[in-house]
Amino acid sequence: MANRSFYDLIIVGGGPAGLSAGIYALRASMRTVLIEKGAPGGQVALSAEVENYPAVKNKSGFELAQSFLEHAQEYNLEVLSQEVSAIEPGLDHHTVRLNGAEVLKAHAIIIATGGTPRKLNIPGEDENYGKGVSYCAVCDGFFFRDKVVAVVGGGDTAAEEALYLAKITKKVYLIHRRNTLRASMILQKRLETDPNIEILWNTVAKAIRAEGDEVCAMDLEDTYSGDKRRLTTDGAFIFIGFEPNNQLVPAGTRMNADGYVVTDDKCETNIDGIYAIGDLREKYARQIVLSAADGCTAALASAHYVEIKRSAGL
Ligand code: NAP
Repeated sequence: MANRSFYDLIIVGGGPAGLSAGIYALRASMRTVLIEKGAPGGQVALSAEVENYPAVKNKSGFELAQSFLEHAQEYNLEVLSQEVSAIEPGLDHHTVRLNGAEVLKAHAIIIATGGTPRKLNIPGEDENYGKGVSYCAVCDGFFFRDKVVAVVGGGDTAAEEALYLAKITKKVYLIHRRNTLRASMILQKRLETDPNIEILWNTVAKAIRAEGDEVCAMDLEDTYSGDKRRLTTDGAFIFIGFEPNNQLVPAGTRMNADGYVVTDDKCETNIDGIYAIGDLREKYARQIVLSAADGCTAALASAHYVEIKRSAGL
């Protein structure tokens, strides 16, 4: 059944998970295409620094994302710069529809669509996006040189981005809704000793205020006392977790209550030949190294699956 639009494997999403799957798929001699609607690299390309990808001591997220892409390109991975509109499971093969109405088919599909930053959903957030509200310190930190910024969140992302912003800005307020951080201990220690960072514990942001075209303050509330205050700030950086990008996951695929796809240890969903990897998949921790590992697992498992299909003459 070899023709131009029929592949052994289609990978949807070009972050570390999808690109790692591409590397392993080509090493297993599978006819593979990776489809990515934006720039390959995924969320990691937006990270300031990555210090915990084993054997890579210090790289910016962008550099690490480029290394993933260059490695996949060495194997001549075909990368289509297009948007997928639907993934449709079938009995003999699966179908991927592109926005331009083109239709691709494959024995196996790996979905690696990752996640999107969660929003606070408070007044002033959407209205002031790009005018002081940001979800990416690397992209926008430069505009806040020697200014005061607020970071919302208490996880690894908020901690890393606050530390990055502390190097550029005059002062960083880290606003966290509880009295302990979720971030790893090593990051917590750095936050505590950074003279440019002040943590506002047990505090939630209720609104973001602007004057003209620029953010000027945030309305805060103490979660214990209910006390309200206005914090003067030039920027509001929001890092409160991710939502899985599960819009393309076919109907009937098992997901957990938070919308993450449930897979077996081969990263296969409950639909034969459809795999979910990286930040889209339900798992204990979300790390770049685990996304890469998922890519490897799913590519090897799908190679085995494709081999069975081929030997059945499909
Ligand atoms: P996360 O670990 O889910 O942390 C989200 C933080 O935002 C939590 O502190 C949470 O508070 C807070 N939060 C959530 N909703 C909120 C709301 N509506 N209002 C105020 N605060 C809210 O998310 P993340 O930091 O983006 O990390 C996601 C995953 O990526 C994690 O597994 C993380 O370990 C991983 N990651 C790893 C690295 C690294 O290793 N280099 C870097 C970045 C991310 P509570 O604590 O009270 O729930």
